[in-house]
Amino acid sequence: MKRGNYNGKIGIYGGTFGPVHLGHIRAAHAFLDACCLDRLYILPTAIPPHKAVSQADTPEDRLQMLKLAFSEPEYADDRIIVSDYEQKRGGKSYTILTLEHFAEESDDITMLCGTDMFLTLERWYRGEDILRMAHICCLCRDDDPASMNEIEKTAAHYRDTYGTTVVLPPFSPLVISSTEIRARIAAGQSTNDVLPASVRGYIDAHGLYRA
Ligand code: ATP
Repeated sequence: MKRGNYNGKIGIYGGTFGPVHLGHIRAAHAFLDACCLDRLYILPTAIPPHKAVSQADTPEDRLQMLKLAFSEPEYADDRIIVSDYEQKRGGKSYTILTLEHFAEESDDITMLCGTDMFLTLERWYRGEDILRMAHICCLCRDDDPASMNEIEKTAAHYRDTYGTTVVLPPFSPLVISSTEIRARIAAGQSTNDVLPASVRGYIDAHGLYRA
């Protein structure tokens, strides 16, 4: 892709994605629509800075599952690019380094965060730089009204302190996590309701997440 002279509206959606599930996919499509993105980069981490990673898959597995999921006609969109940028860069996948990389492509970057991540953003590595550099789109992972209050307070703090544009679109989440999915697979339970068929096929073929 030609870089350096593109100035469309870019979205960044990073995560572990071990494995990608229908909650992530629903969030990606809501992000595209709510922020009218021209391009959405989905970036699986090399080493996530904030959590221990499951030993039951590899960075390559997580990348391939994302590519499969977003190739399914039901979930594909021309604007979505599954990128190996963070995995190729290696080391801890610090978000600010990713934002600085994509800033060569556009100065209009919005980052997607689930509520869990949004509330802690300021404490991330160079979190203040993240909040000055990117717009933030926060999607609620659950319907807990108490946490909505906390989110709005945090959004106001980011706006007032760093000038961050925070978008809080209405969103009806699928309440699921990769952790729960790995546990279901280890217990031999069905994941038909939470994983795309291609991802289930990949997990079966490679024997991932079994106990
Ligand atoms: P794990 O259970 O392994 O921690 P996870 O399901 O939380 O994984 P991540 O890969 O850590 O998934 O998530 C990447 C991003 O997607 C984060 O910003 C997270 O908040 C968001 N996210 C994860 N699950 C959902 C969901 N069900 N709905 C909306 N956003 C989600």
